[in-house]
Amino acid sequence: MTAARALVTGATGQDGSYLVEQLLDEGTEVHAMVREGDGVALPEGVVRHVGDLTDGAGLEALVADVEPTEVFNLGGLSSVALSWAEPALTAQVTGVAVGHLLKGSWDLQERTGHPVRFVQASSAEVFGWAGPPQDERTPIAPVTPYGAAKAFAHHLVAVYRRRGLHASSCILFNHESPRRPEAFVTRKITAGVARIVAGQQDELSMGNLDARRDWGWAPDYVDAMVRALRHGTPGEYVVATGASHSVRDFVAAAFAAAGVDRWEHLVTLDPRFARPSDAPEQRGDPSRAAAELGWAPTVPFEELVARMVRHDLDLVRAG
Ligand code: NAP
Repeated sequence: MTAARALVTGATGQDGSYLVEQLLDEGTEVHAMVREGDGVALPEGVVRHVGDLTDGAGLEALVADVEPTEVFNLGGLSSVALSWAEPALTAQVTGVAVGHLLKGSWDLQERTGHPVRFVQASSAEVFGWAGPPQDERTPIAPVTPYGAAKAFAHHLVAVYRRRGLHASSCILFNHESPRRPEAFVTRKITAGVARIVAGQQDELSMGNLDARRDWGWAPDYVDAMVRALRHGTPGEYVVATGASHSVRDFVAAAFAAAGVDRWEHLVTLDPRFARPSDAPEQRGDPSRAAAELGWAPTVPFEELVARMVRHDLDLVRAG
């Protein structure tokens, strides 16, 4: 059997950084496509390739050049909010790029006769306003430019799977960690709570506290993608905890983790942060991933929030 050689896009992101660590630990040869050259820190042993998801020909050439046995597509414009400002760029980076990576993988497999496996970081946003619980049979009906781009990519992965490529989609529900940037609501909350406790910030300015999301621990979701790629047959898998919590629950858990019981007066509502098109509730049913991949989430909600808060308290204390 050929030794595993992985090509990873998005290696500098939250998930990509955990994925690279997991693959290196397993002894896999890891090639990462990054946007910048030496300016970006990658773990020792990773082979760096400078490229961009907007460069379709470059993506196909990269796959042909690296000759990976495994392609993990985690790169993309990953913010729903940003996708409203940049719908066409989102379509290109999060949607069209996947076509080039799939074509590159298919062509490589045809040329060398060696199988190439592909996994796509799909998203619960492809389900739009569908009521919970969402699973693999829930209709694809996105309501945001980000969701539409992910939906296109999701369909294209299925097309290549039907053609004979071992191509899987993991339909990822929200997953968090201390590596989430503050542009995302969870990290905005935990970093804000830490600064409030340290006296560096007065209040948290929030949009919609009622939206409910299914939040899990990012390294678990990365592990699900590895499991999907290594599974005998390719497929589509909802990756979620099966439980939802409101943004208000997240705020309360974050203040509790920082030792603050009464927090309501520290939170204000600002319509600028509200996103009216957001689905009221995302809650995934991960039964298929459990049954076929032996996957299960390992970190409960309160512990996930507490880990992020502890990290952010350490950061503010370190100055
Ligand atoms: P992230 O932290 O935002 O990382 C995105 C990665 O994509 C970064 O490495 C970024 O590189 C790269 N990227 C963006 N535009 C690029 C371009 N034009 N060319 C090359 N690389 C580009 O996202 P994440 O949270 O790790 O998520 C990983 C994947 O899962 C994404 O596809 C995301 O849409 C999907 N997903 C995430 C969640 C979640 O809750 N986290 C849920 C569902 C689906 P730079 O460092 O150069 O910016």
